[in-house]
Amino acid sequence: MKLVVVVGIALGASLSIRAAVASPGPVAPAAKVPIPAPKDRPYAGEILLSVDATDLDRRIMHVHESVSGIAADTVLLYPKWLPGTHAPEGPIDRVAALRISANGATLAWTRDPVDVYAFRLHAGPGVKSIDIEFDYLSPTTRKVGALEVSRDVLMVEWNDVVLYPAGYFTRQIPVTASLTLPSGWQFGSAMDSAAASGAQTTFKRTDLETLIDSPVYAGRYAARFDLDVGGPVPVHLDLFADRPEYLAATPEELQAHRALVQQAFKLFGSHHFGHYDFLYSLSDQVQEQGLEHHQSSEDGSDPESFTKWDATAYDRDLLPHEFTHSWNGKFRRPADLWTPNYTVPMQNSLLWVYEGQTQYWGQVLAARSGLWSLQQALDQMAFTAAYYEIQAGRRWRPLQDTTNDEIINPRRPQSWSDWQRFEDYYEEGKLIWLEADTLIREQSQGERSLDDFARAFFGINDGSSTPVTYTFDDIVKTLNGVQPYDWASFLRQRLDSTGRPVPLEGLRRGGYELVYTDTPSAILRDGDEQRKHVNLLFSLGIDLEDHEKGAAGVVSQVIWDSPAFKAGITEGAQILAINGTVYSADILKDSIRSAKDDSTPIELIIRIGDRYRVARVDYHGGLRYPHLERDPSAPARLDDILSPRP
Ligand SMILES: [Zn+2]
Repeated sequence: MKLVVVVGIALGASLSIRAAVASPGPVAPAAKVPIPAPKDRPYAGEILLSVDATDLDRRIMHVHESVSGIAADTVLLYPKWLPGTHAPEGPIDRVAALRISANGATLAWTRDPVDVYAFRLHAGPGVKSIDIEFDYLSPTTRKVGALEVSRDVLMVEWNDVVLYPAGYFTRQIPVTASLTLPSGWQFGSAMDSAAASGAQTTFKRTDLETLIDSPVYAGRYAARFDLDVGGPVPVHLDLFADRPEYLAATPEELQAHRALVQQAFKLFGSHHFGHYDFLYSLSDQVQEQGLEHHQSSEDGSDPESFTKWDATAYDRDLLPHEFTHSWNGKFRRPADLWTPNYTVPMQNSLLWVYEGQTQYWGQVLAARSGLWSLQQALDQMAFTAAYYEIQAGRRWRPLQDTTNDEIINPRRPQSWSDWQRFEDYYEEGKLIWLEADTLIREQSQGERSLDDFARAFFGINDGSSTPVTYTFDDIVKTLNGVQPYDWASFLRQRLDSTGRPVPLEGLRRGGYELVYTDTPSAILRDGDEQRKHVNLLFSLGIDLEDHEKGAAGVVSQVIWDSPAFKAGITEGAQILAINGTVYSADILKDSIRSAKDDSTPIELIIRIGDRYRVARVDYHGGLRYPHLERDPSAPARLDDILSPRP
C-alpha cells in the first residue's frame, strides 16, 4: 500500500487505467480432486472403534480406530450433517491430536480446504489397514458448548468420536464399537452389548448408520425401569442423575410413562424398533436436550422432574415428543432429508411434518398418558395460539421458509426473534395439524380423525426399522384416503402465504376460544418460576430474565410493535425502577394493574450498557395471560383428542 502511494504521485493515474484494461480480474482456481460420492455398495473392510470416556475432569474422550479395507488413496470423513439437528453441526472444532498410522509408521494427512470435515491420506498400495487416534475435546465450559461430561453423568454421541471412509453409504460400513467408562458406572443405549471386560463394554457388530443413531448415556447414579412389562418389545426408561435421590420416581409417575408407551402403540398401531430406551438425564451439570433416534432418545430435564413432579410439568411433553419421532422422522422420513452419509447436505422442506406433527402428537400423547392433565394440555395450546397472535414476523415470512432455520441459525441467540420468526414449523405446525384433525372429525361426523392418518402413514411395515421416505404428495394422498378434501391447497396456503392470521380454526372447531385473564395458568407460572423468567409478552410485550443480585429485570425478548417496543425498550435493557420505585417483578406487575385505571404511562428507568434513561410505556390493558374457554357452539373435539384411547 505504501509503495503504491510513493510511486503513484507521478504515475498513478495513467498506470492504474492501463492495469484495469489489461486485467480481466481474478478467476477461480481449478477444482480440487473431488471427495468420493457415497455409493450403495458393501465396504470391503470394517471399523473397530474404541472410545475411552474415563477422563471426566478434562472432559476428553480418547479415540482409537482400526480401519481395514483401505484404498491406496483414502478420504476419511468426520460426520458433518447430523440427523435430528438437520444441520451441518458436527463439532469438527473439537477434534485434536489426530494421528494416522499404518504398521506403526505415521501417515501424513491433509485436510480438504473446501470441506474441512474431510482428511486425505496416501496409504500406498501395500497398506490395507490403518490406525487412527484422536482426542474429542468435549466442551469444558458452557461458553464452548453444551456440556456433555460431568463427574456424575456423561453422554457419548458416536458421531463425535469417529472418522469413516468416504465413498460408501454409511449403512454399508460395518463397525464394532467398544466404550470404556469410569468403573462402577451404569449405562443405557439402544446398542446391544456383546461382551464386557471390567469397565469396557464391546457392542455387537453393526453398521455405522445404526451406531451413530444409538448414543450411550452413562452415570454414577442410574436407575432403569421397564415401561412395557411383558410386552413384545422392551421399552426402558434409563435415568442418570446428579444425585441418587433424584431417581426416586413414584409408582404413579412411572404409570404415566407406561401409559405413554401404550397410547403410542394404540395411536400408530406399530413399532419400528427391536427395543427402545429413553436415555434421560436429570442433571444441572450436563445439557438438557431432546434428540430423537430410531430406537432411543436423548432426553434431559430438571433434575427434580420426578421429585418435584407437580412443579415441573412445563416440559413433560419431551418424552412423548421424542418417542413419536421413532415413527415420525426416523421410520417415516422426508425424502429430501434422508441422506446416504453425513457429508451430503440435508434439505428440511418437510419439517412441518417431521417436527410439526411430532409436536402435535407429543402434546396429545402427554395428555392421553396422564403425563399432563387435560387442563395442562389446554393451557399449553393457549400459550402457542396467543404467541402467534402477537408475533410480527408472520407478516413478511412464510412458515415454509422457517424450515431452513436450523441451517440458517443452529439455535444461536437471536435478536428480535418474533420479527425474524424461528423454527415456527414446530408450534405453528402443531396448530395446523390441530386444524386438520378437527376438520377430519367435523367432515366425517366424528367417524375419523388424524389418528387414522397416523395409523395409515406411520403404522405400515410393523416391526421393520428400515426407513421409508415420503414426499408432500404422499402426505396429501394419505390425508385424502382418510377424508377427501383439498388438502394440497389447505396445506400450501398455510405454509406459503404471508400475513395470514394465526391459525385458530382448530381451537374453534375443537370447541374452545382463546381468551385472556389477569392470572397465568399454573403450567405457565411454574415454567417461568423454574426458568427465572417474568412473562409479560401479552401485556407490555416483554419477557424478562429475573435472576438475583444485579441480574434482575433484564429484558430477554421484546415483541415487535408492542407497547414496550414503542417506548424504545430493547433486548438486553435492564429495568432498574418503576414509577420511581426500585425494580421487582411484583412492583412491575402492580404498576401494570394500576395503569389499567389510569391514563399516565408506566415510567421505567432502564439501563442499556452504560446509558440510563426513562422509558414511558403507554399501556393500559392490565395483566394478560392466555387461556382456553369452552365455546359451546362447537362439540368439545379437543377434549376427545386429548383423552386416552381405550
Ligand atoms: Zn423433534
